[in-house]
Amino acid sequence: MNFDYTDEQVLFRNMAREFAEREILPFVTEDDRNTYYRPEIIQKMADLGLLGAPIPQEWGGLGTDTVAYCLVCEEIAKASASVFTTALTVHVSLFQMPILKWAGDALKKRYLPKTTKGKLLGAFCMTEPNVGSDSASIETTATQSGSNWVLNGSKMWISNGGIADLLLVLAQTDKTKKHKGIAAFLVERTMPGFASKDIHNKLGLKSSNTAELSFQDCKVPAENMVGQVGDGFKVGMYALDNGRTSTAAACVGIAQGAIDAAVKYSQERIQFGKPIASFQLVQELIVESIVETEAARFLVHRAAYLKDKGEPFTKEACMAKYYAAEVAARSATKAIKVHGGYGYSGEYPVERLYRDAMGLLLYEGTGEIQKLIIGRESIGIPAFA
Ligand SMILES: Cc1cc2nc3c(=O)[nH]c(=O)nc-3n(C[C@H](O)[C@H](O)[C@H](O)COP(=O)(O)OP(=O)(O)OC[C@H]3O[C@@H](n4cnc5c(N)ncnc54)[C@H](O)[C@@H]3O)c2cc1C
Repeated sequence: MNFDYTDEQVLFRNMAREFAEREILPFVTEDDRNTYYRPEIIQKMADLGLLGAPIPQEWGGLGTDTVAYCLVCEEIAKASASVFTTALTVHVSLFQMPILKWAGDALKKRYLPKTTKGKLLGAFCMTEPNVGSDSASIETTATQSGSNWVLNGSKMWISNGGIADLLLVLAQTDKTKKHKGIAAFLVERTMPGFASKDIHNKLGLKSSNTAELSFQDCKVPAENMVGQVGDGFKVGMYALDNGRTSTAAACVGIAQGAIDAAVKYSQERIQFGKPIASFQLVQELIVESIVETEAARFLVHRAAYLKDKGEPFTKEACMAKYYAAEVAARSATKAIKVHGGYGYSGEYPVERLYRDAMGLLLYEGTGEIQKLIIGRESIGIPAFA
C-alpha cells in the first residue's frame, strides 16, 4: 500500500494546475455568463498533450497512467467543468478510449493521432429523446446497404454534439436482439444525413456545447464500424466505465474548488467583529466537505488503480462517480452557505460550481443507475443475460 503519487503523476497534476490557472481561470466567469465555448483553450491543451494524456504514444498520446489522467481531470474541472466536459471526459474517456480498445488498426491510424493533436474533436452518442437510463433500448437504427450502414434516428443531450468532427454513435441493427443487436459507428460530421441543433438555456456547464442530433439516411462506410455487430453495447459500457472514473475525478475537483473558495471567503468576511472562519459552525460546513472530498478522491484513485492493473473496474467506477457527484453537489451547497448572500450571486465562483455539479450528477448515468450497477455487481446478478 502506497499513498504517494509517482513523480510522473505529480508532474501532470502540476502541469494541469498551472495550465488551468493561466489559461482557463481568467476567462471562466465571462465565458459562463456569455455561454461561450472557447476553442483555443482546447487547442492549447492539445499542444501540451492533455487531449490524449492516457492514450499510448504510438497513437499520438502521452501514455500516462489513469491516476495521472484523473489528477489532470481534477485540476481542469476545479477551474472549469465545461472545459473538462469538452476536452477530457467526452473527447478522451468516452470517445478515444473505446476506440483504442475496440477499433481495428486502420480506423485507429486514420483518426486517433488527429484527435490527440486536437485536429479532430470527438463526441459520444448514446442518449436519445425517449431513451436515457435504459440505454439497451436505443431506437436509432442501422441498416446494411451494400458497403454502407444507413443510420436513422435522433440523439439527445450530446456533449460536443454541435462542434465535434467525429461522433461515436450507438445504433440498433436488429431490434429483436435488444442490446446484442447494437453496433457502434464512427460518423464524420460531414457525412450526408447528419445534422445537429444546439441545446440552449442549460442550468450549468454553459461553456460546453450540448446538442440534439439527427440521422436521416446517414450513410456510414462499413469500415467505420467500431468492433462487430453486437459489440456496440459493450463499447458503450466500456466508454462509460472510463467516463465515470474521469467524471468522478472532476467532481472531486469541483468539491475542492468549493472548499478553497469557502476557506478564502471565511477568512476575509468579518461578522460579530471576527472573521467568520473563527466560528466553529462555519468550520463545520468546511470540514464536512474536506472529509467527504478526500474520501471521494480515494474512491477515484482506487478505480483508476484497478484500470491500470488491467482488472475489472466497473463497480469501483460507479462507486466513485455516485459518491463524488453527491459530494461535489453537497460541497458546492455548503460553500454557498459559507458565502451567505454573496454566494447566491455571480460575483463568487460557488454558484457556478453548484450549477455545474448538477450536470455531472446526471451525465454518464444518474446516481440511481450507479447504485443499480453497484447492486448487481455486488450481488452477482448480470445486468443483461
Ligand atoms: C449536460 C449533459 C450532458 C450530457 N452528455 C451526454 C453525452 O455526451 N452523450 C450521451 O449519450 N448522453 C449525454 N447526456 C445524457 C445523460 O447521460 C442522461 O441525461 C442520463 O443518463 C439520464 O437519462 P435521462 O435524462 O433520459 O433520464 P431518465 O432515464 O428518464 O431518468 C429520469 C429519472 O428516473 C430515474 N430512473 C430511471 N430509471 C430508473 C431505474 N431503473 N431505477 C431507479 N431510477 C431510475 C433516473 O435516475 C432519473 O432520476 C448528457 C446529459 C446532460 C444533462
